[in-house]
Amino acid sequence: MSAALPPYTVRVSSRARHVRLTVTARDGLVVVVPRGWRGDADAVVASKREWALRALAQVAERRAVHAAGPEALLPDVVDLRACDRLLEVSYVCGPGTPVARERAGQLVVTGLDDATARLQALRRWLAREARRALVPRVWALAEAHGLSPSRVRVMRARTRWGSCSAHGTIAISHNALFLPPEALDGLIAHELAHLSVLDHSPRFWAHLLTLDPEAHTHRAMLRRAVHLVPPWADE
Ligand SMILES: [Zn+2]
Repeated sequence: MSAALPPYTVRVSSRARHVRLTVTARDGLVVVVPRGWRGDADAVVASKREWALRALAQVAERRAVHAAGPEALLPDVVDLRACDRLLEVSYVCGPGTPVARERAGQLVVTGLDDATARLQALRRWLAREARRALVPRVWALAEAHGLSPSRVRVMRARTRWGSCSAHGTIAISHNALFLPPEALDGLIAHELAHLSVLDHSPRFWAHLLTLDPEAHTHRAMLRRAVHLVPPWADE
């Protein structure tokens, strides 16, 4: 049994309150444990073995894609699942900094033949789409539940889908555009629930389930949805 466990390291963190697993390109699989923890790290990894193997495979795939250079990252299609829009991408050489524009159901990147600059143009376009599509969606769901965030914004974040500050600012990652609509609404409900309860206590879950009865399903969908974010959208 233990032979099948992926390799991992243990890191003691003075800020950690619970044992958790992380996977990053730099450190691989890490078991983060609170100071003075006396548990069995092998058992922790064994209990999350499938998740860890999947996360490690994703990291390896991402690293391989990035190693191939910016040219290899340029997409042929962009699938904004959240808005049910599938766009073909074409690249047109021209003078000046590349700009991405939608034209008749296509995404056209016009400008210098420079892969890095074209990727930047696509990311700027993604940020604009996120502001246009995600911000009104948060406000609409907030209104439907009679809630009022102090501010709604989009953010560039790879590791988090969303956040809610103590001041009531809700931020949604640009990458949420790649989520299926029901997972996006689940994410928004989750952040809206944080307007009342900031932590993830049982009280939070009880409140969230009143906003989103499918919250547990949506949470699981979000966990598995990282692979829906195409590598070009990463910073
Ligand atoms: Zn949360």
